[in-house]
Amino acid sequence: MTLRLYESDPYLKEFDATVTKVEGEWVVLDRTAFYPGGGGQERDQGTLAGLPVLGMRGKDEIAHRVPGHAFTVGDKVHGTLDWENRYALMRAHTGEHLLFSSLSRRTDMELVKISLARERKVLVVKGHLDWGIVREAVQEVNSIIAQGAKVSSHLVDRESIGEGGPRAKLDRISERMVRVVSIGEHDHAACAGVHLGDAREIGMLLVNKFTSAKPAGDWEIEFLVGPEAVRAAVDLSISALMLGERMGALPQDSLTAFDNRERELNRAREALKVYGRTALASLRPRELGPWKVFTGSFLALDRRLVMEWANELVAGGGSVAVLVCQDERTFLVLARSPDVDIDCVTILREALAPYGGRGGGKPAFASGGTSDQVDPGALIDGVLRLLK
Ligand SMILES: [Zn+2]
Repeated sequence: MTLRLYESDPYLKEFDATVTKVEGEWVVLDRTAFYPGGGGQERDQGTLAGLPVLGMRGKDEIAHRVPGHAFTVGDKVHGTLDWENRYALMRAHTGEHLLFSSLSRRTDMELVKISLARERKVLVVKGHLDWGIVREAVQEVNSIIAQGAKVSSHLVDRESIGEGGPRAKLDRISERMVRVVSIGEHDHAACAGVHLGDAREIGMLLVNKFTSAKPAGDWEIEFLVGPEAVRAAVDLSISALMLGERMGALPQDSLTAFDNRERELNRAREALKVYGRTALASLRPRELGPWKVFTGSFLALDRRLVMEWANELVAGGGSVAVLVCQDERTFLVLARSPDVDIDCVTILREALAPYGGRGGGKPAFASGGTSDQVDPGALIDGVLRLLK
C-alpha cells in the first residue's frame, strides 16, 4: 500500500520515500506525491533521484516507471515534481469542477469525458447547450474565482449518496467510502484527483473552443486557466476589436454586421449567376475546320456553372467549348462533342504548361488551372492553335 501524499497535501513539491518493490523499470514506493492520473487528469511529471518518471500504474501499490534506475528494496529516494505542470493541472481540474457545475445549473446535461493535459483541457458533455449558456456559465465561474472559495474534501459512505447529493458516477467507483470534493457551496463532486486549496488560485477561466462533437448531442468545450487564460482573453478581445473595425461596427455588433454582409454576399452571388447564365447563353460559335468552337472568358463566375455550361454547349454535336474563369487564379474548361476526335486532357495540359498550370479529366472533358492569373485571351488562343 502506497501512502498517497498528494491527497493530504496537494502542494507537496518534493518528498522522501522508501522503495518497497522493484519490477524491471517499475519502482513501488511506500509513499508518493506523484498523482498517477485519473478522473481525466494526466499523471504527474517529475524525477525520482534525478531520473525522469516516465509512467505510473497501480492504485494501492503505486509504481513509477524509471528507466535506467538501480534501486533495490529499502533504498531511500527523493522525488521532485514538475511543479509548474502539476499546478497548471490543479488549476484546470478545480476550474473544470466549477465549469461543469455552472453549466449543469443552467441545463440538463451529463458528463461524457474530461481530458486535462498540459497542452489541452477539454470537457465533453451531452445535452442542450448554446453560446448563451456557455457565456453565463463562464461569467459565473469567474465571479466565483474572484470571490474565492475554499476547496475541501471528506469521505462519504456511497450508500448515502443520492438525489440532490454530490455529483458522482457510482458505477465507476468501487470503494465503499467515496471522496467528495467541495468548492465552497458551489460544487460537491466525488473525485480522487488533486485540486487547489482555494478557487481564487485559478486566476481566470476562459472557454476557447465550443463545438458540437460526435455522436450528435455531444459538445466539446475546451478551456484555459490562469495566465494562459488571461493571455488568450487579451488576444481574443483585440481580434474582436479589429474585426469590429473592419466590419465598420462596434465589437458587440460585429455578429449582426457579419450576418448582414453574408446576406449581401449571397445576393451578389445569386445575381452573378443570373448574369453569368445570360453571358454564357449569348456565346456564338466560330467555325474551325469541320467544328463549331465556342470560346469565352468570365470574371468570378461559379466554376461549376461554367463546367455545366461547357457540357451543354457541346451537346448538339460537332462542337468544342473553350471557357475560362478568372478569379485569383485562371481556370480553363475544355469540352467536346462525342463525334469530335480530340483528346481534351492532352490539349488542356499543353495549353496550361507554359503558365505552370495543371489539369485533368477525360478525353471529352477536361479542366484545370494556374496558380495565379494569366491573360485569358492568350490562353484561349493557345488552345485554338492546338486545335488547328
Ligand atoms: Zn476533481
